[in-house]
Amino acid sequence: MRYPQWTSRQLWSLGLLTSVLFFGSVLFHELSHSIVARHYRIPVASITLFFFGGIARITRDPDRAGQEFLIAAAGPASSYLLTGAFGILAVSTPNGSMLNALTTWLAWTNLGLATFNLLPGFPLDGGRIFRSIIWGITKNYSRSTRIAARIGQAIAYGMMALGAYWAFVAHSSVNGIWFIFLGWFLLTAARQSYSQIATQGALQGLRAADTRVRLRAPAGARIWSFPMAGSWGSCALRRCRPSRGRTGPPPPCKRR
Ligand SMILES: [Zn+2]
Repeated sequence: MRYPQWTSRQLWSLGLLTSVLFFGSVLFHELSHSIVARHYRIPVASITLFFFGGIARITRDPDRAGQEFLIAAAGPASSYLLTGAFGILAVSTPNGSMLNALTTWLAWTNLGLATFNLLPGFPLDGGRIFRSIIWGITKNYSRSTRIAARIGQAIAYGMMALGAYWAFVAHSSVNGIWFIFLGWFLLTAARQSYSQIATQGALQGLRAADTRVRLRAPAGARIWSFPMAGSWGSCALRRCRPSRGRTGPPPPCKRR
């Protein structure tokens, strides 16, 4: 045991408090995305926290690359802010104290949360930042999403390979299984983003009169985030009207 001087009651209360503050940190990350999104009049449908992370749902993608950049960057920036705050508390509390253990863990966790999310694969925050830069340069929303989603898939395969190495070669099965799970999760999300853009591209080829049959967002369309991958976004299936002459994503479909 790392802290043999503590009673089991102390350890349990520390564990509980750490969990609460961890959820608070994830919520703070998601809220930061949401506040910037609302600043651009993009409604936030919901933020849900569950045992290993959270779900944030915004109703549509931003209209401009600059908006997307700022909405995406807000999450990691907020987590780095928390890293700094908990880090300052950690260095100013006595080594071996409960407060020191708590703040040290939260500083490292927020650092991991922010840094992992800055990986340039869609739909991670870093992938959205990357997409916004390509989108800003090329003015091509679909192409930039496809590139970012492909990189997201590559990162996901890399994480699963690293997880398999840890689990089967380095005998670190907890880290290994966790990384395989994270990689699988990211792969699924990146694939969905890619196929949604492909569907949208096919619909853009139709004449306006042909697009009366409109796709609808599934009732539970959602964006997940979890300890190493806070993410945000919207359901691309709502976007299915032709968008010739526009640089941004097409406007959301009207519900009938
Ligand atoms: Zn995020």
